[in-house]
Amino acid sequence: MEKLFSPWRLRYITSGRRRDRACVFCRAVRGRRDRDNLVLLRGRGNYIILNKYPYNNGHLMIVPYAHVPSLREATPATLQEMMALAVRSEAVLRAVYRPTGINLGMNLGRSAGAGIEGHLHLHLVPRWDGDTNFMSVVHGTRVIPESLQAAYRRLRPLLHERGGGLRPPAGRGATRRRRRGPASGAGRRRGRAA
Ligand SMILES: [Zn+2]
Repeated sequence: MEKLFSPWRLRYITSGRRRDRACVFCRAVRGRRDRDNLVLLRGRGNYIILNKYPYNNGHLMIVPYAHVPSLREATPATLQEMMALAVRSEAVLRAVYRPTGINLGMNLGRSAGAGIEGHLHLHLVPRWDGDTNFMSVVHGTRVIPESLQAAYRRLRPLLHERGGGLRPPAGRGATRRRRRGPASGAGRRRGRAA
Protein backbone atom coordinates (compact mmCIF):
# COMPACT_ATOMS: atom_id res chain seq x y z
CA MET A 1 0.00 0.00 0.00
CA GLU A 2 1.34 3.42 -0.93
CA LYS A 3 2.04 5.72 1.99
CA LEU A 4 0.69 9.17 1.40
CA PHE A 5 2.21 10.68 4.50
CA SER A 6 5.82 9.82 5.16
CA PRO A 7 7.70 12.69 6.78
CA TRP A 8 10.46 10.29 7.87
CA ARG A 9 11.49 10.08 4.23
CA LEU A 10 12.28 13.78 4.04
CA ARG A 11 15.76 13.46 5.50
CA TYR A 12 16.49 10.61 3.10
CA ILE A 13 15.22 12.53 0.09
CA THR A 14 17.01 15.76 0.94
CA SER A 15 20.23 14.12 2.08
CA GLY A 16 21.50 13.88 -1.49
CA ARG A 17 22.13 10.17 -1.00
CA ARG A 18 18.94 9.00 -2.63
CA ARG A 19 19.87 6.68 -5.51
CA ASP A 20 18.20 4.38 -8.00
CA ARG A 21 20.24 1.50 -9.36
CA ALA A 22 18.32 1.38 -12.63
CA CYS A 23 18.70 5.08 -13.35
CA VAL A 24 21.29 6.12 -15.93
CA PHE A 25 22.00 9.39 -14.13
CA CYS A 26 22.63 7.62 -10.82
CA ARG A 27 24.77 4.99 -12.59
CA ALA A 28 26.90 7.57 -14.44
CA VAL A 29 28.47 8.90 -11.24
CA ARG A 30 28.54 5.71 -9.21
CA GLY A 31 32.00 4.70 -10.38
CA ARG A 32 35.08 6.69 -11.22
CA ARG A 33 35.02 6.29 -14.99
CA ASP A 34 34.09 9.88 -15.69
CA ARG A 35 35.61 9.95 -19.17
CA ASP A 36 33.76 6.81 -20.28
CA ASN A 37 30.56 8.09 -18.74
CA LEU A 38 31.05 11.56 -20.25
CA VAL A 39 30.93 13.20 -16.82
CA LEU A 40 32.55 16.58 -17.35
CA LEU A 41 32.56 17.98 -13.84
CA ARG A 42 31.47 16.98 -10.34
CA GLY A 43 30.15 19.70 -8.08
CA ARG A 44 28.92 19.42 -4.50
CA GLY A 45 25.29 18.65 -5.25
CA ASN A 46 25.28 18.32 -9.05
CA TYR A 47 27.41 17.10 -11.88
CA ILE A 48 27.70 18.04 -15.55
CA ILE A 49 27.46 15.34 -18.21
CA LEU A 50 27.40 15.29 -22.01
CA ASN A 51 24.18 13.96 -23.50
CA LYS A 52 24.86 10.63 -25.22
CA TYR A 53 22.04 11.37 -27.63
CA PRO A 54 22.61 15.06 -28.30
CA TYR A 55 20.25 17.37 -30.12
CA ASN A 56 23.26 19.40 -31.18
CA ASN A 57 27.01 19.65 -30.66
CA GLY A 58 27.87 20.48 -27.06
CA HIS A 59 24.51 19.35 -25.64
CA LEU A 60 25.17 18.91 -21.94
CA MET A 61 23.11 18.39 -18.82
CA ILE A 62 23.40 19.49 -15.21
CA VAL A 63 22.17 16.73 -12.92
CA PRO A 64 21.74 16.56 -9.12
CA TYR A 65 23.36 13.55 -7.45
CA ALA A 66 20.09 12.98 -5.64
CA HIS A 67 17.55 10.89 -7.55
CA VAL A 68 14.65 13.34 -7.36
CA PRO A 69 11.96 13.87 -10.00
CA SER A 70 11.05 17.50 -9.31
CA LEU A 71 12.47 20.87 -8.33
CA ARG A 72 10.42 20.72 -5.14
CA GLU A 73 12.34 17.68 -3.95
CA ALA A 74 15.79 19.11 -4.59
CA THR A 75 17.45 21.08 -1.81
CA PRO A 76 17.79 24.86 -2.16
CA ALA A 77 21.59 24.45 -2.11
CA THR A 78 21.40 21.95 -4.97
CA LEU A 79 19.22 24.25 -7.06
CA GLN A 80 21.47 27.19 -6.34
CA GLU A 81 24.52 25.25 -7.47
CA MET A 82 22.65 24.00 -10.51
CA MET A 83 22.18 27.58 -11.65
CA ALA A 84 25.80 28.44 -10.87
CA LEU A 85 26.87 25.50 -13.03
CA ALA A 86 24.52 26.70 -15.76
CA VAL A 87 26.31 30.05 -15.70
CA ARG A 88 29.65 28.29 -16.01
CA SER A 89 28.40 25.98 -18.75
CA GLU A 90 26.94 28.84 -20.73
CA ALA A 91 30.28 30.65 -20.69
CA VAL A 92 32.16 27.54 -21.79
CA LEU A 93 29.68 26.60 -24.52
CA ARG A 94 29.85 30.13 -25.90
CA ALA A 95 33.64 30.05 -25.87
CA VAL A 96 34.00 26.63 -27.47
CA TYR A 97 31.14 26.50 -29.96
CA ARG A 98 30.29 30.14 -30.63
CA PRO A 99 26.56 29.39 -30.81
CA THR A 100 24.13 32.13 -31.76
CA GLY A 101 21.79 30.90 -29.03
CA ILE A 102 21.48 28.36 -26.21
CA ASN A 103 18.35 26.49 -25.12
CA LEU A 104 18.12 25.82 -21.38
CA GLY A 105 15.36 23.62 -20.15
CA MET A 106 13.87 20.86 -18.06
CA ASN A 107 11.23 18.36 -18.99
CA LEU A 108 9.40 17.41 -15.82
CA GLY A 109 7.31 14.31 -16.35
CA ARG A 110 6.71 12.09 -19.34
CA SER A 111 4.07 14.33 -20.88
CA ALA A 112 6.60 17.17 -20.93
CA GLY A 113 9.01 14.99 -22.89
CA ALA A 114 11.27 13.74 -20.10
CA GLY A 115 13.38 10.83 -21.35
CA ILE A 116 14.40 9.97 -17.78
CA GLU A 117 11.53 11.25 -15.72
CA GLY A 118 12.60 10.06 -12.27
CA HIS A 119 15.78 12.12 -12.12
CA LEU A 120 15.74 15.88 -12.54
CA HIS A 121 18.17 17.33 -15.12
CA LEU A 122 18.75 20.65 -16.81
CA HIS A 123 19.60 20.63 -20.53
CA LEU A 124 21.85 23.17 -22.23
CA VAL A 125 21.73 22.94 -26.02
CA PRO A 126 23.82 25.29 -28.17
CA ARG A 127 21.94 26.60 -31.18
CA TRP A 128 22.97 28.14 -34.48
CA ASP A 129 20.95 29.96 -37.09
CA GLY A 130 19.50 27.39 -39.45
CA ASP A 131 20.43 24.35 -37.34
CA THR A 132 16.89 23.05 -37.65
CA ASN A 133 17.63 21.92 -41.15
CA PHE A 134 15.82 19.64 -43.55
CA MET A 135 17.40 16.55 -41.98
CA SER A 136 15.79 17.16 -38.60
CA VAL A 137 12.52 18.47 -39.98
CA VAL A 138 11.97 15.90 -42.71
CA HIS A 139 13.68 12.84 -41.30
CA GLY A 140 13.51 13.50 -37.59
CA THR A 141 17.26 13.03 -37.36
CA ARG A 142 20.17 15.31 -36.71
CA VAL A 143 23.67 15.41 -38.08
CA ILE A 144 26.12 15.74 -35.19
CA PRO A 145 29.52 16.31 -36.79
CA GLU A 146 31.53 16.19 -33.57
CA SER A 147 32.16 12.96 -31.65
CA LEU A 148 31.22 12.85 -27.98
CA GLN A 149 34.80 12.18 -26.93
CA ALA A 150 36.00 15.18 -28.96
CA ALA A 151 33.37 17.33 -27.26
CA TYR A 152 34.45 15.94 -23.89
CA ARG A 153 38.09 16.85 -24.53
CA ARG A 154 37.18 20.39 -25.53
CA LEU A 155 34.73 21.16 -22.76
CA ARG A 156 36.22 19.48 -19.71
CA PRO A 157 39.35 21.63 -19.21
CA LEU A 158 37.40 24.85 -19.62
CA LEU A 159 34.69 23.77 -17.19
CA HIS A 160 37.40 23.07 -14.63
CA GLU A 161 39.10 26.42 -15.04
CA ARG A 162 38.68 28.62 -11.98
CA GLY A 163 37.45 25.87 -9.70
CA GLY A 164 34.93 28.07 -7.95
CA GLY A 165 35.05 25.86 -4.86
CA LEU A 166 33.91 22.81 -6.81
CA ARG A 167 35.19 19.35 -6.12
CA PRO A 168 37.68 17.98 -8.69
CA PRO A 169 36.42 15.04 -10.75
CA ALA A 170 36.83 11.49 -9.51
CA GLY A 171 40.07 9.76 -10.35
CA ARG A 172 41.98 12.99 -10.86
CA GLY A 173 44.51 14.73 -8.66
CA ALA A 174 42.71 16.41 -5.82
CA THR A 175 44.37 19.77 -6.25
CA ARG A 176 42.78 22.41 -4.13
CA ARG A 177 41.57 25.38 -6.10
CA ARG A 178 41.04 28.81 -4.73
CA ARG A 179 37.50 30.07 -4.68
CA ARG A 180 37.23 32.86 -7.19
CA GLY A 181 33.61 33.46 -8.02
CA PRO A 182 31.71 32.84 -11.24
CA ALA A 183 33.47 30.92 -13.99
CA SER A 184 33.28 33.44 -16.76
CA GLY A 185 37.03 33.57 -17.25
CA ALA A 186 37.00 30.72 -19.75
CA GLY A 187 34.85 32.70 -22.12
CA ARG A 188 37.00 35.77 -21.86
CA ARG A 189 40.20 33.85 -22.37
CA ARG A 190 38.96 32.02 -25.43
CA GLY A 191 37.48 35.21 -26.74
CA ARG A 192 40.87 36.87 -26.78
CA ALA A 193 42.55 33.90 -28.41
CA ALA A 194 40.07 33.78 -31.29
ZN1 LIG B 1 18.73 8.69 -10.67
